[in-house]
Amino acid sequence: MATSIPFGKINEILARWAANTPPIEDFTVENVLYAVGLDSSYYEIILRFLMSKAGFELIPKKMLVCPSNHKIQAFDLDEDLEGELFDCFCGESDFEAEDFILVFSFTDDFKKDALALKKKFMKNQEQRYLQLV
Ligand SMILES: [Zn+2]
Repeated sequence: MATSIPFGKINEILARWAANTPPIEDFTVENVLYAVGLDSSYYEIILRFLMSKAGFELIPKKMLVCPSNHKIQAFDLDEDLEGELFDCFCGESDFEAEDFILVFSFTDDFKKDALALKKKFMKNQEQRYLQLV
């Protein structure tokens, strides 16, 4: 790994996504890699970094995908879906929960915090503008 990990930049992006209206939900490790311009060789370390936020800022979930790779529904990581059958809008039907992708959403606390920070930032910007005029 040549580049150091831009943890600050990742935190900034997460805060921006959380303060978005509506908040960006169900994002993947790949989405984060792409947003900060890292290639897939950083997958594991970014995954570990995101998982370290689990329960505080992020909620990791498993997203069920159909055999044609459409997102169906996100479940808790330990949710047991054995024996359940699912359908997809694309016509795939009665398939078992076999293919998952790991997705993250934000905790309510983190969303609140990110929104408060965004408001404060915007207020500061306004203030600075008002001082100029
Ligand atoms: Zn489908």
